[in-house]
Amino acid sequence: MKEGVSQMWMLPKMSVDDIIMYLRKSRTDDPALTVQEVLSKHEQMLDDWVVRNIPDDGRKIPEANRYREVVSGETIESRPCVQEVLRRVESPRVKAVLVVEPQRLSRGDLEDIGRLVKLLRYSNTIVITLQYTYDLRDERDRDMFERELKRGNEFLEYQKRIMGNGRLLSVQNGNFIGQKPPYGYNKVVIKEGKRKCHTLEPDPERAPVVKMVFEMYAGGTSATQIARTLRTMGVTTADGGKWVTSSVKQMLTNDHYIGMVHWNKRKTVKVVEDGEVVATRPRNADFLVYPGKHQPIIEKELWDAVQAIKGNIPPIKSRARYANPFAGLVVCQCGGKMVRQQFVRDGVERCAPRLVCPNQAECHTASCSLPEFTEAVIEALEKGIKDFELMMANAPEDDATQQERLIAQLEKRLAELDRLELAQWDKYTQEAMPKHIFNALNKKVVQEKEETLQALKTAMETLPIRVDYEKKRETFAAAVRTLQDPNASVKEKNLLLKQCIERIDYNRKPKQSDNRRFGNPEPLELEFQFKV
Ligand SMILES: [Zn+2]
Repeated sequence: MKEGVSQMWMLPKMSVDDIIMYLRKSRTDDPALTVQEVLSKHEQMLDDWVVRNIPDDGRKIPEANRYREVVSGETIESRPCVQEVLRRVESPRVKAVLVVEPQRLSRGDLEDIGRLVKLLRYSNTIVITLQYTYDLRDERDRDMFERELKRGNEFLEYQKRIMGNGRLLSVQNGNFIGQKPPYGYNKVVIKEGKRKCHTLEPDPERAPVVKMVFEMYAGGTSATQIARTLRTMGVTTADGGKWVTSSVKQMLTNDHYIGMVHWNKRKTVKVVEDGEVVATRPRNADFLVYPGKHQPIIEKELWDAVQAIKGNIPPIKSRARYANPFAGLVVCQCGGKMVRQQFVRDGVERCAPRLVCPNQAECHTASCSLPEFTEAVIEALEKGIKDFELMMANAPEDDATQQERLIAQLEKRLAELDRLELAQWDKYTQEAMPKHIFNALNKKVVQEKEETLQALKTAMETLPIRVDYEKKRETFAAAVRTLQDPNASVKEKNLLLKQCIERIDYNRKPKQSDNRRFGNPEPLELEFQFKV
């Protein structure tokens, strides 16, 4: 038995060969330290623990039992070292995993936590941390351990959200938010007032290579020939790989080189494939480009020449598609999607463009000028912002409390199911329950556990409602700013509006006056459906 953190309980007799040490930097560590610095600091702390607690052995944990994770993945799937640790744990030879705190093993989602706990428990592996030693066969320990891991998960979710909020704004301000700088640049931190900003700085050795590639291509050399030349010159890619045709082509279309930055270009999307969560980065057509803070490597004239050769000049037609910032959003009462119409006479725009119903032959809904409509949308978005602020100030307590109660219920049920499963395992292993009966019983429990976990996951994901309003407010404000910005592109306006608005139902009665040409228009009847 153990009591509190003082641990009256004795550590099972073990040698350093029975212990696996796992090291990982997490987001809670000092960001100023490198991965190596954090890991070696922690390694020292864990070595000291061994000296204090297994003094008889007199040795350190052997190198083969030390795992240093250098990649920064959240899930078990994305961390090769922890996967290896979990494989080793299955062997009876391994009696304990030594980490600075439980969260080093998993800050992933609930499924990861479940998998981890199960594996450690049924392989009789104890988890030693600097503060406490967890024996996962013990229910109280298991609860504590799981709670620690979930705490990490909540914190991570919260942090992801917070980071998501600032990203768009950061790109709009011209910062580079990508992980990896494009070849030819280094990622640097500059200070603007009190704020730290990430931007790019031309690499003195690589930037000239980029320039050479663009010049060669503009001069008529093919991408394949350029790749060959680079290989002959012994120039490697940013990852130290060999240049190939596709990597040269990618460089030629990367507009970071003319000083631009992107938002949303290749979003990581998590999809389930064969029962595993896989992160993919599909090419996303819906992205925004902003002028960056960094110095261009390629001059606009050279860039344009290269794009012309590559045939990358957007055809007029696709540019026209982005003439209407409200494209795809406004639905006439007849069901048609409202389109932008520009009245031109003698090649001159006679008045502001208008939004009109596409079925004008049958539908008599009156049109609206684009500026008038824009005003109405801004007003609605601003009202939305006020609502979010109100909700942030008032309601969330109740919602959150309700949700917390639901989470507590689900957690309780999950613990019950865990106990049930454990009892089944005991019956199976100790009382020789027939395998087919065990399988049938276990299947039911596992299924309900999965359902409960899923419900719990959903509940947890939607928990900090307050933060969600904050994010919505931010996106709505960005949309209003962009609508009011005369320099913002139509495409940008459209994309941001689509982040906020699901659809706008439109109606306007035809003018009642006898003189249709001069009478006052009837008021707009708009109904906004915001994105939830
Ligand atoms: Zn209509």
